[in-house]
Amino acid sequence: MRGKLIVMEKRVYIKTFGCQMNEHDSERMLALLRGCGYQETGQPEEADVILVNTCTVREKPEQKAYSLIGRFQQLKENNPAVIVGIAGCVAEQGGEHLLTRIPFLDFVLGPGKIHRLPEILQAMEEGQRGLCVIGFENGTPVKLPLPQSRQLSAYVTIMQGCDNFCSYCIVPSVRGRERSRPSNDILAEIAALIHKGTKEVTLLGQNVNAYAKNNPPELTFPQLLAKINAIPGLERIRFTTSHPRDLTEETIGAFGTVEHLCEHLHLPFQAGSDAVLARMNRGHTREEYLVQVKRLREVTPQISITADVMVGFPGEQEADFDQTLELMQAVEFDGLFSFKYSSRQGTRAAAWPDDCPPVVKQRRLERLQELQRGITLRKNKALEGTITEVLVEGRSRNSPDHMTGRTRCNRIVNFPGSPELIGALVNVKITEGLQNSLRGVRCG
Ligand code: SAM
Ligand code: SF4
Repeated sequence: MRGKLIVMEKRVYIKTFGCQMNEHDSERMLALLRGCGYQETGQPEEADVILVNTCTVREKPEQKAYSLIGRFQQLKENNPAVIVGIAGCVAEQGGEHLLTRIPFLDFVLGPGKIHRLPEILQAMEEGQRGLCVIGFENGTPVKLPLPQSRQLSAYVTIMQGCDNFCSYCIVPSVRGRERSRPSNDILAEIAALIHKGTKEVTLLGQNVNAYAKNNPPELTFPQLLAKINAIPGLERIRFTTSHPRDLTEETIGAFGTVEHLCEHLHLPFQAGSDAVLARMNRGHTREEYLVQVKRLREVTPQISITADVMVGFPGEQEADFDQTLELMQAVEFDGLFSFKYSSRQGTRAAAWPDDCPPVVKQRRLERLQELQRGITLRKNKALEGTITEVLVEGRSRNSPDHMTGRTRCNRIVNFPGSPELIGALVNVKITEGLQNSLRGVRCG
């Protein structure tokens, strides 16, 4: 598999499942392919290459990816020249077996080998089929090209993999051990993005707080934030995801001192019961989590805190679940991503009975979501009458003469305006707090 691939007027269709990490990987795969002459298409029927970037964190997105790939069989039968590949965590986990399980699949590409995509397609051009490229490079993550178009808000990977081994989680198996990028590379990438028009960056990693934890000469995470803050032209910094185990007082303090760091923290808590947290191997207690929330609000009273939570983990009793609801009431999250536990082959918890019946999981999820909806709406209504800074992202989906953007606390705001505002920071007075967004009018 050698030589540089340059193709004329070929089209690639990419479908992405799962998290921001996968969205970022898909963006970078597209950038690699554009460099080889491919154009993106939204229509699989007109594509020369179809790529499904998958997620295996939970059962549902994994099943959705398989069923989508199944739908491409007919396309392949109609046009055997079309190349169908699978990328992402399902590819990493399934490896060569996927080529047998899905006989019309042409290649399997793991998340640690994205940079080899042009090489794989070159081999396909030369007639090879059934390639499987998975695994991880040792050492620092490989550099990938920047997206070609301007991105007002861009993702920047600062670390890959995870060393935490939460007992329910497949990520360490499919994304490898924790590897941090050198800070110089990160800073150079952000400077290049700003040069192309980026105003906001979101630093990505499974556990960004642990950035370069095992690599002492490198900057710590808060030091990295301070350096990024000093890059001219950058307006906003965000990061995700944070693990309570590695959230230091120094990082909490950064919210009060790093000017461009937005007042929003996504800090998953997963469960409110210490017994469940211990079985999950989360490495923190309920009380420790509550102390961190208190400290965050002491340093930055307006900070918005969002989280991930799961229901129906093996052994979760009604009393454990009540403690999850109590924790939610105590914290009053600004938003919550909630999931029903699904057993993932290869994790420690997969060896334990998945003993919470589906109807109970569903009922718990609904109760939890209902509680959160009330909290979110109340908090959004409390913002009525306040003035907030919005980074204007584009036209509102519901009205052509309204624009949409985000506050520093990551709330969506819609307000009357026109497209020349895109990319600007404007002040908006909030007139109405809704369930999932705010409405307002420009002021000042
Ligand atoms: N690294 C992040 C952290 O530690 O919070 C998140 C990683 S994971 C991709 C995103 C979320 O998926 C987790 O926070 C958890 O709530 C959920 N999740 C992970 N494994 C799961 C499983 N087996 N069943 C249900 N939800 C799961
Ligand atoms: Fe998975 Fe836990 Fe690592 Fe997050 S910290 S990716 S939940 S193992």
